[in-house]
Amino acid sequence: MKIGNAVLEEEPYCHVLLQEHRSTLCDRCFTSGDSLKKCTGCGEVWYCDKACQKRDWAVHKLECKCLKQVSPKIPMDSVRLMLRLIITKSKDLPMNSPWSRKFDDLMTHSEEIRADKTRTEQFGKMVFTLTEYAGKAVSLPSAAELYDTFCRMVINSFTISDGELKDLGTGIYLSGSMLDHSCKPNAVATFHGCTLVVRATEDIPDPSPNKVFISYVEQLSPVTERQKALKEQYYFDCKCERCVDDEYNETMTSFCCPVQNCDGLVCLTEGNTFKPCRKCGTKDFSPELKKGALAVLDDCKTQLDIIDKEKKSGSSKKVFEKCKKLIQETTNILHPMNVYSVRLLDKAFDVAIEEEHWEKAIKYGQKTLQAYSTYYPKYSPNYAIQLFKVGKLQLYVQYMEDAARNLEQAQSILTVTHGANHDINKNVTLFLNQCREEMRVKSNGS
Ligand SMILES: [Zn+2]
Ligand SMILES: [Zn+2]
Ligand SMILES: [Zn+2]
Repeated sequence: MKIGNAVLEEEPYCHVLLQEHRSTLCDRCFTSGDSLKKCTGCGEVWYCDKACQKRDWAVHKLECKCLKQVSPKIPMDSVRLMLRLIITKSKDLPMNSPWSRKFDDLMTHSEEIRADKTRTEQFGKMVFTLTEYAGKAVSLPSAAELYDTFCRMVINSFTISDGELKDLGTGIYLSGSMLDHSCKPNAVATFHGCTLVVRATEDIPDPSPNKVFISYVEQLSPVTERQKALKEQYYFDCKCERCVDDEYNETMTSFCCPVQNCDGLVCLTEGNTFKPCRKCGTKDFSPELKKGALAVLDDCKTQLDIIDKEKKSGSSKKVFEKCKKLIQETTNILHPMNVYSVRLLDKAFDVAIEEEHWEKAIKYGQKTLQAYSTYYPKYSPNYAIQLFKVGKLQLYVQYMEDAARNLEQAQSILTVTHGANHDINKNVTLFLNQCREEMRVKSNGS
């Protein structure tokens, strides 16, 4: 299988649109239309047209009654997905799984989930809401079957996102969930509407399901965070190439070398001791210096959480000021390759755009690129979208050469990860063409 080719293309077995996109995206195909039409039965779901409505009807026919029963309340997305799963299972609909997998073939991890307090509480609450929601319209399966369905749902769900990586919904893909995780994947899962497309991001000589790996977790994370997320959500210990690569993992939490004019990197071992600078070799770190550096790292982590909360509650101006201050405090202490300093720059980048500080935004965005290109695979949607965002701003403020370079690079990555026909690639191409046209006009005029 050559790089850029689709290993798998699959329609969801069952899926649900996130509540926040209700009435702006079609509940069936997840695309936006100018004239979405509301289901006249429940008034809660929207479709492009009769065709999308018809395709959803096998499941929505019963769901519609349930939604009407609890209206104007709308159950949580996970409860909606659960009911849709129960209906789908009971229907025995035609199989659309390319690797012929059935719902009952999906892993349950039921023993681990039973021992997991958060998940069992979540299940208890779900059964309660689900019973009210299903009412007389849908008869729920036995408690044991309900539990198995819940386990299969939480272990095998995919977050469906758009080209710009914004979350749209949740889906179950029977074949897609055969693919295992690696922090150094050889393929990437993307979505065309709600259709899952997995593409090879390197040549895969044998593309059988157990030789294709995607990443289940955020890759811009230190090994401890990745492993914790995988353990908590999927109940396994990752032993991939990346997870045992100490040099790689230590870089993610590294500090700047304190020696003047050395831009080397000082790493922290698991036991919180400092290793000699990778560039100049100095190991002369006073206890105060170590203590200070660790305090800055801890503070940065705490502040990042606070920034997240403040961002949700509104004032981007306040958040922008906070980011600027924190960047000042951490520069020259946290290394630019430290993922926490990258996350900070990322937040500053987004909020600077919101506040329309274009130059500052470009500066912050550019500073994240080296870490992005190191920690994400060569062909990664995350890296491509970051390049696209920076490139768009550079075009806007007329840094034409830089804009062209970043947009070209974004385009070449997206051609591999999403294919040339994906909307996001067309969108990037539009900006790139505009950029080239403006450069042409400029050079002719001078
Ligand atoms: Zn549609
Ligand atoms: Zn309806
Ligand atoms: Zn790993």
